Amino acid sequence: MPEFVDTSPPGVCIFCKLAAGEVPAALVYQDALTLAFMDLGQVTPGHVLVASRRHAVDLFELTPEECAAVMQSSQRVARAVQAAFQPSGMTLLQANGRSGGQTVFHFHMHVVPRHEGDGVGLIWPRQEPGHEVLQDYARRIRAAMA
Ligand SMILES: [Zn+2]
Repeated sequence: MPEFVDTSPPGVCIFCKLAAGEVPAALVYQDALTLAFMDLGQVTPGHVLVASRRHAVDLFELTPEECAAVMQSSQRVARAVQAAFQPSGMTLLQANGRSGGQTVFHFHMHVVPRHEGDGVGLIWPRQEPGHEVLQDYARRIRAAMA
């Protein structure tokens, strides 16, 4: 299935229109900061998106309050999906930037019920660069946080 890509600016992107009730959606949950709805492209039955209500392009544009709200809504939705669909696993996926796999440029979290042999995959090219390199990586990140 081809990817759906939306790089529209604030207010006119598909999720902003959805939040405004301007396009139909199968709504699951909403509160002041978030809304949750069925993904049109169901990876597995029960696949929900949890989006920020405000147009924030990605993780870096969310406020700390929106970050917390998205995670709380995601947990609430995931619990309900677990009860409703009883999958044997659950994957939460959040993508930022084209190379990060983002296709709709309005922040959203995928809540994906998982089953053995469901065909969902993530290529994870694990590397072990060693202790000194890890220490250097950590030092760089700590410096950026200071
Ligand atoms: Zn938007």
